[in-house]
Amino acid sequence: MGDLMTRYGPATALIVVDMQNDFALPEGSLYVRDGESLAPLINAEIERATTAGSPVFYTQDWHPAVTPHFADFGGSWPPHCIQGTYGAGLVVDLDVVGQVVRKGAHGEDGYSGFTQRDAETGATVPTELDALLQAAGITAVVVVGLALDVCVKQTALDAVTNGYAVTVPTDLSRPVELSPGDGARAVAEMAAAGASAE
Ligand SMILES: [Zn+2]
Repeated sequence: MGDLMTRYGPATALIVVDMQNDFALPEGSLYVRDGESLAPLINAEIERATTAGSPVFYTQDWHPAVTPHFADFGGSWPPHCIQGTYGAGLVVDLDVVGQVVRKGAHGEDGYSGFTQRDAETGATVPTELDALLQAAGITAVVVVGLALDVCVKQTALDAVTNGYAVTVPTDLSRPVELSPGDGARAVAEMAAAGASAE
């Protein structure tokens, strides 16, 4: 896992992905097993990051009720993180000390904190995350949160593509595992892309 004292600094950002009630709580509509254990662990990581001068950014899945992201409208998932609902809220125990980047707010599909797919044109469009990181002088990111094999993976892969040094501490994430082994495959895929996933 490396030296916790050197993982962070002003040029490294911590990105906390989708720590939302629908994913993290057993009663959530798209519960990721053991997600409820993560908030205290991630809060400790946020403390380490901020102590070393690292900014913290958060992503928040933020869907309209009708979106091609949901199975009823051609997508892959049950309804989740619908704008303004309890399920879409960040878990109450999570320390929120930085900017929140919402994704899917205009019906876009996708998983990454960096990019989403326009529902009408199919074009890949960026969120504001990359511009925020650039404005902060960030060259490296640490990606944690939910879920390891979906939005954490895709955020990490896009971060590599965008030129950041990427670390994914897997003890601060949990996989959905729609298919058994998806978590391990996600770790292998991120490592193959050049991320430090361990
Ligand atoms: Zn979603």
